[in-house]
Amino acid sequence: MAEEESQFEEFEQIDFLRDRHVRFFQRTLQVLPERYASLETTRLTIIFFALSGLDVLDALDVIDRKTMIEWIYSLQVLPTEDEANLSRCGFRGSSHIGIPYSTKGPGVLHPYDSGHVAMTYTGLCSLVILGDDLSRVDKQACLAGLRALQLEDGSFYAVPEGSENDIRFIYCAASICYMLDDWSGMDMQKAIEYITGSLSYDNGFGQGAGRESHGGWTYCAIASLCLMGRLEEALSQRELDRIRRWCIMRQQSGFHGRPNKPVDTCYSFWVGATLELLDVFQYTNFDKNRSFILSTQDRLVGGFAKWPDSHPDPLHAYLGLCGLSLIGEPSLRKVHPALNITQRAFEHVQQLQQTWRESAGSCGRQH
Ligand SMILES: [Zn+2]
Repeated sequence: MAEEESQFEEFEQIDFLRDRHVRFFQRTLQVLPERYASLETTRLTIIFFALSGLDVLDALDVIDRKTMIEWIYSLQVLPTEDEANLSRCGFRGSSHIGIPYSTKGPGVLHPYDSGHVAMTYTGLCSLVILGDDLSRVDKQACLAGLRALQLEDGSFYAVPEGSENDIRFIYCAASICYMLDDWSGMDMQKAIEYITGSLSYDNGFGQGAGRESHGGWTYCAIASLCLMGRLEEALSQRELDRIRRWCIMRQQSGFHGRPNKPVDTCYSFWVGATLELLDVFQYTNFDKNRSFILSTQDRLVGGFAKWPDSHPDPLHAYLGLCGLSLIGEPSLRKVHPALNITQRAFEHVQQLQQTWRESAGSCGRQH
């Protein structure tokens, strides 16, 4: 019996290929396949998947943090001397438009240069993961850039020129305000109204009113309300119970994002984290979930794919790890379900906020 148990343990350890995943994310930071060329404008998001993935794997020591922090700061859209571009500030996704490399202000005026709300979110997360104190983030410029992206209906554009506007970008905006500890970047009430208006007849959330329920948008809705501290106020107990039910019904083996769709690794995080935020994740089947995620693990190059026998990619590799972390996979750091970074990185954010509040308090007393 003892022998059987030890064999089983050995099997478990072999099955989750931690070191391959570490190498997968290291490669993601260095070189990407040609087919990723079209994602160049959103490179910072791919970097976030790799950095946060390494953090979940407790392997951040394999990267040069200082260089990475400098590169991320070089993507900050800083105000020009006359602040004419204040409503365009935030973080850009990469150096693709050719703004000269600089980590210091003032910014350079360029007609196509602006932050992108998802890049600002993943940029701030990445800095926090790397242990930076955010002291070089121009918070007021980021918040001004954010305010300029909110529409009358409460949703957000991704960029000032206009783009799709929906609940995903509300989530990015909520995460930015939460991390910067300043909600002046949005009209929170309007954002809440957009979110509650996106609750569909079948009790999941769509991208907007009247649109199909989806696991990803449901995550964005619930996580945003949690970050705002307004979950119980915005939704009734009855609505919350129905949302819980809709989410629980998404488990097949792993999770799918919509009824009658195949299961996909990323929903082990999107739906799993939503259920965790709604305090009912424990009622799902962890063993089936784990088996599905591990069936999408690439045993040769590391990472996870969306389906078994498919190619791994940074998004599914990262969210697969987060899905495993939520069900308590040993050797993985715990993930904060609302901010989608490790609990360790989340605690760093809290410490920073504590020091900001203390220094704001002492300034207040001096004046
Ligand atoms: Zn997916």
